[in-house]
Amino acid sequence: MRKSCIRILKKNGEPIRRALLDMDLLDNNSRICSEGDFLYLPLTAEPQDTELKLLPGDFELTEQDFEEHKGQLKLENLMNDVPHFEVIGDIALIEDDVSQPEMVAEAIMKVKGNVKTVLAALGPVEGEFRTRRFRRIAGEDKTSTIHKEYGCRYYIDLEKAYFTPRLATERSRILAQVKEGQTVVDMFAGVGPYSIMIAKKSNDIRVIAIDKNPDAIEFLRRNVELNSATNVEAIEGDANLLAERFQGLADHVIMNLPHNACEFLDAAIRLCASGAIIHYYDITPEDDLFGCSLKLIEEAAGKADRKTEAVETRVVRSYAPRQFNVCIEVRVI
Ligand code: SAM
Repeated sequence: MRKSCIRILKKNGEPIRRALLDMDLLDNNSRICSEGDFLYLPLTAEPQDTELKLLPGDFELTEQDFEEHKGQLKLENLMNDVPHFEVIGDIALIEDDVSQPEMVAEAIMKVKGNVKTVLAALGPVEGEFRTRRFRRIAGEDKTSTIHKEYGCRYYIDLEKAYFTPRLATERSRILAQVKEGQTVVDMFAGVGPYSIMIAKKSNDIRVIAIDKNPDAIEFLRRNVELNSATNVEAIEGDANLLAERFQGLADHVIMNLPHNACEFLDAAIRLCASGAIIHYYDITPEDDLFGCSLKLIEEAAGKADRKTEAVETRVVRSYAPRQFNVCIEVRVI
């Protein structure tokens, strides 16, 4: 069947396949095909301009004939409208306002053989520790699982600590920037998806992973062991207070606390060695994606007599209508 698709060099295929998957744009019902040096990735829908800007690498949007996966049971065959859901380890998450959740859960478990539990989120992530509550719709009565991402494994209890698989591509972008011999401070580390992935790149990278949520730190320590990462220091505490201890040590400071990261900018600047990069995440409106946050970072640096150079600004994903999760990268001199 003829479909819209992405054409990309085979050697650059994996990051874009992963990004399309994160954005629900990869058509899993069709078989990815190749011709010469190129891969063709089938799409569920024509990407919007903002989505195209999020895709990594040099690619072309085109059309191609694809074979359907034969004999494979599809969610589309079991229900008319497939609601949005995501899979973390062997748990599928649906929203609580999905109509006929039991029917949806049964269909998901039938099609996704590895899913053992379907949970409905009872609201958005909330509170200081960015957690959510769930109700069980089908399967085993549990909220914990082990999720695999880029060769790492993460134990998570979804009610006790934050985790999203939707940042997998973003994490790999940060990973690419960290070099051997460098020190990384992950100020809001959660169960460790940035910290552990970076630590696994080289034993010669020092990772200081901070989180205020005692459960997140307990899981992070468990994940350090699970992944045999010897170079992660997991520290429970307030990132603002702990900055003093690691003053001037960091080559990279990761600030993944959208909405509130601005309250920690003085501490982040204090952590920076000369030339360090701050990776600052925020949720911003369409009409001021980066300006306001860049100004806040510059002001915090100015207070400490430091200068900044903008390195990169990018949209990570859409968050709500006209609101985007963005990453701003700034060098602190
Ligand atoms: N970086 C992780 C990830 O990508 O999965 C977790 C990000 S989550 C959005 C933000 C984390 O910041 C939560 O785990 C929360 O417990 C932690 N947090 C909130 N306030 C904090 C503070 N004052 N100091 C340190 N960590 C804090």
